[in-house]
Amino acid sequence: MFISVDAAACMGHGRCYSVAADLLSDDEQGFVAQSGQTLRIPGDLLDQAREAADACPEGAISIVEEHPDR
Ligand code: SF4
Repeated sequence: MFISVDAAACMGHGRCYSVAADLLSDDEQGFVAQSGQTLRIPGDLLDQAREAADACPEGAISIVEEHPDR
């Protein structure tokens, strides 16, 4: 499973990295540092990834089975 952050949708609310600190972090402006990236989710962090997706008010975070570039 992969976590994908839509850079255009992210508005910097910071909720995602608050609930998924082992997966996501913030940049200098308070936006998620992984904006625009798709990252493999370690199996033990899947719950955190889902919480981050649920926490984002912009719907910027998706959990997908396949990497979109493959
Ligand atoms: S919660 Fe959503 S809008 Fe806020 S920083 Fe995270 S991805 Fe961006």
